[in-house]
Amino acid sequence: MPLSAFLFQRALQASQRIPNHSHLLFLFAVSSGGFVTYADAKSENDPKLPQVSTKKRIVVLGTGWAGISFLKNLNAYLYDVQVVSPRNYFTFTPLLPSVTCGMVEARSIVEPIRRIIRKKKGEVTFWDAECLKIDPFNKKIYCNPCAGSNVEGGGEFIVDYDYLVIAVGARVNTFNIPGVLEHCHFLKEIEDARDIRKNVMHCFERASLPNLNDEERQKDLHFVVIGGGPTGVEFAAQLHDFITEDLAGLYPQVKHLVKISLVEAGEHILTMFDKRITEFAEKKFRRDGIEVKTGFQVVNVSDKTITMTSKSAGEASVPYGMAVWSTGIATHPVILNLMKQIGQSERRVLAVDEWLRVCGCEDVYALGDCATTVQRKVMEDISAIFKMADKDNSGILTLKEIQDALKEIYLRYPQVELYMKTKHMTDVVDLVKEAKGEEAKVSAELNIEEFKKALANVDSQVKTLPATAQVAAQQGHYLAQCFNKMKETEDRPEGPIRIRESGRHRFKPFRYKHFAQFAPLGGEQTAAQLPGDWISIGHSTQWLWYSVYASKQVSWRSRMLVIMDWLKRFIYGRDSSCI
Ligand code: FAD
Ligand code: MG
Repeated sequence: MPLSAFLFQRALQASQRIPNHSHLLFLFAVSSGGFVTYADAKSENDPKLPQVSTKKRIVVLGTGWAGISFLKNLNAYLYDVQVVSPRNYFTFTPLLPSVTCGMVEARSIVEPIRRIIRKKKGEVTFWDAECLKIDPFNKKIYCNPCAGSNVEGGGEFIVDYDYLVIAVGARVNTFNIPGVLEHCHFLKEIEDARDIRKNVMHCFERASLPNLNDEERQKDLHFVVIGGGPTGVEFAAQLHDFITEDLAGLYPQVKHLVKISLVEAGEHILTMFDKRITEFAEKKFRRDGIEVKTGFQVVNVSDKTITMTSKSAGEASVPYGMAVWSTGIATHPVILNLMKQIGQSERRVLAVDEWLRVCGCEDVYALGDCATTVQRKVMEDISAIFKMADKDNSGILTLKEIQDALKEIYLRYPQVELYMKTKHMTDVVDLVKEAKGEEAKVSAELNIEEFKKALANVDSQVKTLPATAQVAAQQGHYLAQCFNKMKETEDRPEGPIRIRESGRHRFKPFRYKHFAQFAPLGGEQTAAQLPGDWISIGHSTQWLWYSVYASKQVSWRSRMLVIMDWLKRFIYGRDSSCI
């Protein structure tokens, strides 16, 4: 950087640091070069100050899966991009359970956001701050710096936006059960994983102290995992491996007192997976000595006991050494506040349409765990769809008219295609047959009532997308592509025909493609649910897991670190120090 530019930048920074002067002229002179420059600090802490961009500003909230995927795929030359997040790094969450037991190190699975930005060409700024409030009507967000500030008033600042991309994820859901917040560990952030690792070791050290009876040691070594979803199950499996492969040899005097319980309110664990995977996992856990308590609901957690109820066994309290809570997600307060402002206060999760636009406000998008797509129902638009398909306005749809309209219908209402697939319908004739029965052989035409009958059940196929990294990353990629094509699509829209208005939608709606979903079960065995209802379980799937997760790392640096951690574990075992 030339000296003058450097000095100019420092001058700007200095002018920003001086508070409470609305129009401060900061004069800076470098007499040797005859260079004079100044900055007009318009308002205190104005974050826009260093940017004199004429480009439209996109503000991205969050540096998780959705935010980073959006950022990586966006053409940052086209916009003034500002990222706001209280976390100045990205976390590869699928490997968080591995951090809890020392399979991989915490720093191996994070990538500093500024490294990602540095590689990006274009204008990208990062603010290490938490968004406290969104004002969608004046297009502003209110932020609080995370590292503190020496500015009077704490340094809160406002950022204006042209487009807002909300990717703040979700928070843990305690269902307001007393004691959960105070006594349970969560597994959501890197700090949580570190805390769990430290606490597992504390439990073993505590149980090894003198003057304890077996009952007290048993309490210290009772690990309770609440929630039988993929995270809870993987953590229980990792903990079991850690104990049997490493800690049993290091704590031989207490190893027979260790117990792991997995508590699930539903009838089974891993219910989002195929039944065969659920059965395999439950059998394997029972074989491994992990107690699977299905049908148990936790109602209270104290510092010493967990109280749960079940229909068959009634209420029971169990002493525990450490509890990990992993039962689901809830909406962030900043999103709840936004929902109130835009008339979504009745909902539990922020609603977006199929283009990821927040319903009820302009130029605001939401993706990842913080939002749910509300798919438009066919039955809500059935008359308009009929009118669109009926090209000759005859009041009757011929087979050809239906066939011609089907592509547009599939694009706008994916549930139609899904329904036909589920019902093994290969042709539109099958759909007509559903409405007319044997009569379809005589006449393959449909009136509006028959058309309604043919499509009456398709909306049952509308499904909400799971809160996974796969969904968040694909949404981030999709939205970035839309922003990249904003100009070209202005005149040449590429989306489906607008059913209730004229013209076309600017973009195709977002479509999720499901790849593999893994459930590591310990003992170098993993279950995977692959596209097309294929499943794969066992040691070979564990190798698939290793290769997929190594390849999905966001940088070569973390890829190498993670692989080295795995190798280190194979050779030396997991580290058992309390750090
Ligand atoms: P996140 O990744 O959570 O990112 C949210 C970001 O927003 C963070 O940077 C956060 O700091 C920031 N933020 C929060 N509040 C604010 C605010 N007020 N202002 C600004 N920024 C804010 N999914 C899979 O597909 N496969 C897996 O194997 C898998 N394993 C998982 C294991 C664990 C332990 C966990 C916790 C999750 C796992 N998931 C997995 C789920 C996956 O991590 C989430 O679905 C994904 O992280 C969602 O991405 P996101 O960008 O919406 O949110
Ligand atoms: Mg017609």
